[in-house]
Amino acid sequence: MKICRFTFDDETHIGIIDGDRVHVFGDILSEHVASFDLADVTMLPPVSPSKIVCVGRNYADHAKELGNDVPAEPLLFLKAPSAIIYNADPIVIPPQSDQVEHEGELAVVISRKCKRLTDTDDAMDYVFGFTCLNDVTARDLQRKDGQFTRAKSFDTFCPIGPFIETELDTTDISVTTRVNGEVRQHGRTSQMVFPVDFLIRYISNMMTLNAGDVIATGTPSGVSKMNSGDICEVEIEGIGTLSNPVV
Ligand code: MG
Repeated sequence: MKICRFTFDDETHIGIIDGDRVHVFGDILSEHVASFDLADVTMLPPVSPSKIVCVGRNYADHAKELGNDVPAEPLLFLKAPSAIIYNADPIVIPPQSDQVEHEGELAVVISRKCKRLTDTDDAMDYVFGFTCLNDVTARDLQRKDGQFTRAKSFDTFCPIGPFIETELDTTDISVTTRVNGEVRQHGRTSQMVFPVDFLIRYISNMMTLNAGDVIATGTPSGVSKMNSGDICEVEIEGIGTLSNPVV
């Protein structure tokens, strides 16, 4: 299923996309409430997380291109939820940075409260679905600060969407990032140092993951600077394409 969030007549709904229609259901999923033409609604980012947990250097070739070793355990940092924008919204280059780069990533959306999973728990039972995320980064500020908060959390630095795919095997799918149609990053999720189930279990042992929380699973090599006027696209096999202009 493709799940989206949208507004119609100032009300926010969660719906299931079916061709050019979107269907809304009640608490009991069988209770069909309403249908809309996609053309008549205003789409929103598909999720509104309490936190975005990001994984750094989770593809060996990306760690290498920035002169870093592959970490022995996942390198985690947080991205501010206030940075979220939707498909087609502009990524705004802030005056503080001369080097704003794209990082196309598979994003995991958590389905329910998830805390201290053990090796016998199936971490994938806590996955609602998957979407595309651009972990936009002010690389110059990331280097200067020695930590990631400012570089990763400027407003508009977290394009996400266009919807959540709930049925997807993510063990070996392609993650491609293009700028103005030219491929800059291309990798497969099978190249992740720490796979999705490992990441969920690992993170849940430090912080409670809530329904709707997002894990950005790291980026393949090929990160590059974006300039005003560019169009940056993140395409994930089986999900779709997240496309944002840069201003
Ligand atoms: Mg990243």
